[in-house]
Amino acid sequence: MKVQGKFIVAIGAILLLSYGLLFLYSSNRQHDLIYGQAEQQARMLHRQVLLTRQWVADHHGVYVIQTKRDQPNPFLDAPAIQDSTGQAYVKRNPAMVTRELSEYASRDGWCKFRVTSLKPINPANTPDAFERAGLKRIEENGEKEIIAIENGPQGRTLRYIAPLKIEASCLGCHARHGYKLGDIRGGLSITIPIGWADEMITENTHSIILYALFSIMLVTATISWLFSTLVSRPLAQLTSAMDRYPDQPVPKPRHKLVKDEIDTINDTFYDLSRRLDVSRTALDNAKKQAFQNEKMAALGLLTSGIAHEINNPLGGLLNCVKALEKEPDNPQLVKRYLPLIDKGLRRIEHTMHQLLNFGRNTPLELEKIDVDQVIQECFELLGYRLQKINLQLELSLQEKYCIDIEALRQTIVNIGLNAIQAIGEAGGTLQVWSSAGDDRITIRIQDTGPGIPPEILDKIFDPFFTTKDVGVGTGLGLAVSFAQVEKMGGTLIAGNWADQGATFTITLPANRNCPLETLSSNETEMDTLS
Ligand code: ADP
Repeated sequence: MKVQGKFIVAIGAILLLSYGLLFLYSSNRQHDLIYGQAEQQARMLHRQVLLTRQWVADHHGVYVIQTKRDQPNPFLDAPAIQDSTGQAYVKRNPAMVTRELSEYASRDGWCKFRVTSLKPINPANTPDAFERAGLKRIEENGEKEIIAIENGPQGRTLRYIAPLKIEASCLGCHARHGYKLGDIRGGLSITIPIGWADEMITENTHSIILYALFSIMLVTATISWLFSTLVSRPLAQLTSAMDRYPDQPVPKPRHKLVKDEIDTINDTFYDLSRRLDVSRTALDNAKKQAFQNEKMAALGLLTSGIAHEINNPLGGLLNCVKALEKEPDNPQLVKRYLPLIDKGLRRIEHTMHQLLNFGRNTPLELEKIDVDQVIQECFELLGYRLQKINLQLELSLQEKYCIDIEALRQTIVNIGLNAIQAIGEAGGTLQVWSSAGDDRITIRIQDTGPGIPPEILDKIFDPFFTTKDVGVGTGLGLAVSFAQVEKMGGTLIAGNWADQGATFTITLPANRNCPLETLSSNETEMDTLS
């Protein structure tokens, strides 16, 4: 996931979480406030109804003109009277006033209230389930008020009930029912619909959710745009400039009055690329110079090596020829010098042969051979020099591999001969291992000679580098072997093992099938170039 994506997901999650918490808090708070307000409303209504009832009770009830609707109440004393003009009046006690006021209020849909009792005189005042439970709790526990929320067919309602106590003004009517001052006569039950509050809460909740979603989207889009403009795009440009460098120069950063962190990275990268360009040019020049020096040194070594290897036997040859010129018919001289001439010419031929092999550009002659058998044959050839040497062959190549047999022979013989020379007259051990991996075969030749001095380790593969006496070493053996192994796609590595002698490791590709046509690497290169 890209940084921009991670950033946006993180910000979105934080916003969602914080809006969620805010939403929870505000909806709880809203709920508490609205229900608190409804409760307060119920308490005030209770207080007002009590005052009205008190007023009616203080006046021992009130008489209102008798109408079709206002008829005498048979449960009251003197339920109806007449004035001197014959106008009829009916009595209204506190309970009736309460009920009639409640009818007015409920007609408006505002609220309902009524007087109720566990021992009602008027059956219309019989309590419902909430009222009965409330009255019992009031009587048994002396609770001052009971509030509950109920779900009804018309939505939710807040139910409130508080005790109605017998006061002095009530005794006029209720003393005969056995009540005393301070007794709980019943309760005033108030029902306030709160469906409107629920609607309001739902509406508010929807608004908050909409607002939260909108602002999350807005903030996310803004951050995304800002991130893309200020961070992602400049970073992508910087990355592509880094990728293209050094093939393409780094463009000079635009001049800005106020720079941010990415501008600073851009500037730093530009400066770095300039410094790298300068050092690269210096390095190239130094490399060219070193290469030139090396070439001259190698050329010098090569020519002096050739001169040395050819001049030595050539001097001997000339002496022989001169001696024979003086006495061409002396058979003793001919008998003495002819083998010397032959030896000198063979030495020159050997040097030239090695040189030709070194620069040989002939195609590889790959054939499927038993490598272990070739190694064995090589050491059989060298057998006459192995008298004082304990030769240990641990050859474990199970298969035949595609290898240039001549190149391998030459390499094994060169390295083997060097090892024999290194072990010398004192004698020692010469160990040869062969093993196969997945795609390489490895041949290791190790001797118990003095080893290769570390200071010449990097020179032993140079042509004509030798530490041996004139006539013993040409300095071409390892150079030729290295070139042959490399041509077969392998490696030749020299080293010392545990200060006991030298070790040479040859690795070659473990090709089990020979290609139909094998070309020299140089030829292949030429083909590719042309
Ligand atoms: P040459 O044998 O004619 O000297 P090479 O190229 O075969 O030429 O070897 C170069 C040099 O590497 C040797 O002169 C010798 O100093 C060193 N060398 C090679 N093989 C060994 C070995 N087994 N132990 C110690 N030195 C070695």
